[in-house]
Amino acid sequence: MCAAELQRGGLEVILVEEGAHWTAEDFTQREGEMHARIDGGRGATTTVDGGMILSYGRAVGGSTVHYWVNAFRAPAFRMKAWREHAGAEHWSPEEMAPYYTTVETNLNVERVHDYQINRNNQILKDTADRVGWHCQPVTQARKDCLACSHCMLGCAYNRKQSMLVTYVPWAMADGARLFASCRVEGIETERGAAVGLRARFLDPDSREALGSLRVRARKGVVVAAGGLGTPALLLRSRLADESGRLGRNLCVNPNLAVAAVMEEEVLHHRNIPSSYDVTEFQETRRDAAGRYLEGGYTFFGAGAQPGFTAAVIPGFGREHRRRLVELMTHGAASLSVIDDDAPGPGRVTVDADGRPRFHYEWDEATSAKARDYFRKAATLYLAAGAREVYLPTNPPTRIRSAADLAQIEGVSFAPGRVTVIGSHLLGTAAMGKDPERSVVSSDGETHSVRNLWVACGAALPSSVGIDPSLTISSHGMRTGQRMLARYG
Ligand SMILES: Cc1cc2nc3c(=O)[nH]c(=O)nc-3n(C[C@H](O)[C@H](O)[C@H](O)COP(=O)(O)OP(=O)(O)OC[C@H]3O[C@@H](n4cnc5c(N)ncnc54)[C@H](O)[C@@H]3O)c2cc1C
Ligand code: SF4
Repeated sequence: MCAAELQRGGLEVILVEEGAHWTAEDFTQREGEMHARIDGGRGATTTVDGGMILSYGRAVGGSTVHYWVNAFRAPAFRMKAWREHAGAEHWSPEEMAPYYTTVETNLNVERVHDYQINRNNQILKDTADRVGWHCQPVTQARKDCLACSHCMLGCAYNRKQSMLVTYVPWAMADGARLFASCRVEGIETERGAAVGLRARFLDPDSREALGSLRVRARKGVVVAAGGLGTPALLLRSRLADESGRLGRNLCVNPNLAVAAVMEEEVLHHRNIPSSYDVTEFQETRRDAAGRYLEGGYTFFGAGAQPGFTAAVIPGFGREHRRRLVELMTHGAASLSVIDDDAPGPGRVTVDADGRPRFHYEWDEATSAKARDYFRKAATLYLAAGAREVYLPTNPPTRIRSAADLAQIEGVSFAPGRVTVIGSHLLGTAAMGKDPERSVVSSDGETHSVRNLWVACGAALPSSVGIDPSLTISSHGMRTGQRMLARYG
């Protein structure tokens, strides 16, 4: 977003991307091949304690090549918190509206169409309506979608409006140059200002190191390496950590799957993965004394292919296989977006060799929200007539009646006790006006290094409280405009 804005504004932009420049012809729709190609950790990055899988893209187009395409604006309550608690200026629905509107138009964001709603999502919607919970159709960045279901593996038909088929080629058509399969190793500075970078080319398959690249930047350097990559790069470069906040405050919006075995056939893996979102519990509700009551998450209908489904079902062997077959043929499923609000419970560090390490410690506030989601999702599926509801605990918690819901109180989030994915990676170079509490200014420039900007999810002050891509894109565009105002 930022690159396209800068190039269109008359600057000369060079894009350096660690991932390869895969295109639609490379997207084979095979899980093993595609996770290995487009997922940042080949589908296998975890936190150091093994307790959480981290899912993110590594390709030209970034995580939008991998993502599920749900596109929402940030809720007003979250922007208010960013202004009032994080000191991040210019976040209000009115100020952000022009950016959101432009991105929505350019990415063809529209309400899900009827032909894209599968039985899994319909069950979620019908039951939410019946129990009186607000459930909205998702807005999504697709154009003439064929509903083939493989969004997470890269769209083989170029219908998903990822950065790969929109802003990156638009920037290049305007003259931007792209170096793909090229990992930035460090940012170079002179007299307190960013002046360039050092990078290394990698073989796209073996990731063996090849030649090197040095870029001299006359105006500035923008880091947009995501919630994990940005702090890792800046920490490796020993830059922008005067506040001690760099890498801290990692929010991931824990995705926990609740699956239900239905009497009828339900093929959750057919059609687009998610078309309805239960938003009834989006805001956290507390009592007068500030004690947690309920909420702090959304959950949406979720479909996944067998490999991914197998990976999120706990267990091994014959019983695991039986459950997989059951869930691929009769499984209704939802995924949570837990609002692990500021300060985010995670952290990115680098080891002595500059390799990133990821940490996430469940705090009580996040655990309470996750338990409440389990309660609500299980209640919904019981009301839908499920034979059995599975929580993603190890061993699986099985719920067959309302009386079984009491088991949820005892669920542990200790590493290995619950299968959880983090896919919205935010907040690790958070913005704010106080240099002692934040890494970048409200404009997106680091407080301590001139001409060094952060234009990805790392710069958001915290979790968005819903899927973040539209907000990240709008921030990227706004950063580009602020830079143009500076550099002319
Ligand atoms: C499976 C999945 C489904 C998702 N579904 C949704 C959804 O439906 N809706 C939604 O809003 N969000 C969704 N998300 C989240 C969303 O895709 C991301 O939050 C968003 O795209 C992140 O944007 P970003 O610019 O912060 O970083 P990214 O898009 O991750 O871009 C960072 C890029 O930097 C590159 N990089 C990192 N380090 C270096 C380095 N040292 N040198 C060079 N390059 C480097 C990476 O390879 C990557 O391509 C999903 C994510 C995943 C993984
Ligand atoms: S479901 Fe639509 S957007 Fe997703 S991969 Fe298929 S054609 Fe592309």
